[in-house]
Amino acid sequence: MSFEALGLHASIVKAVFQAGYEKPTPVQEQAVPAAIAGRDLLVSSQTGSGKTAAFMLPSLHKFADTEPAAAGRTPAQEAQAARARGERVRFKAAQPKMLVLTPTRELALQVTTATEQYTAHMRRIRAVSILGGMPYPKQMQLLAKNPEILVATPGRLIDHMESGKIDFSQLEILVLDEADRMLDMGFIEDIEKIVAATPESRQTMLFSATLDGVVGNMARRITKNPQVIQI
Ligand code: AMP
Repeated sequence: MSFEALGLHASIVKAVFQAGYEKPTPVQEQAVPAAIAGRDLLVSSQTGSGKTAAFMLPSLHKFADTEPAAAGRTPAQEAQAARARGERVRFKAAQPKMLVLTPTRELALQVTTATEQYTAHMRRIRAVSILGGMPYPKQMQLLAKNPEILVATPGRLIDHMESGKIDFSQLEILVLDEADRMLDMGFIEDIEKIVAATPESRQTMLFSATLDGVVGNMARRITKNPQVIQI
């Protein structure tokens, strides 16, 4: 099986080759076509299996289909133009299309770095990390760019949601990465709150070492007719 055969756009295939990937891993082979077809996914797989690309490549493929052709102004440019006209500018909430929740800062940064590699040949797709411990002014700057993809740890994301900095009404894809670890770390209430703020129409992909017990219950509650993949 090749990356082309998975049905991904040429710009994405080119980027993964440049990242040094020759062929899809088993989890990518199963997850990518199902996600491109719009299915929710419940995936049991380990770190190192290539799970980041398994959820990110089909998501980028979907966004590549809807990339705007004409270059409009970004919200930050709009704000700058309004300030130049002497108008007062209120902070406009970021409206991401994709949210990836991770248990740790390190994992969030890895996902963001991988996404930057995968989007090397795509215009107008930006991923930013929203992490506990990062200074708020820096995060406000990142959110003001209205990135398409947010990669976040749950606690800090809740802070920004509750203060009106993020609006999930346009969210298309929700990913829970290492969901079992997030639950072990006590993030269940935060996750429930975040999921409740996203549209019912979203596509949901959940990755976890195990799909039993508490994580399995949550997984089934937040997905619709998911394709279950066990690697
Ligand atoms: P992950 O499981 O997403 O943390 O990925 C583990 C490592 O495998 C990362 O360093 C990825 O860059 C790498 N990787 C992911 N997919 C592939 C692939 N198809 N071929 C070679 N390396 C890959």
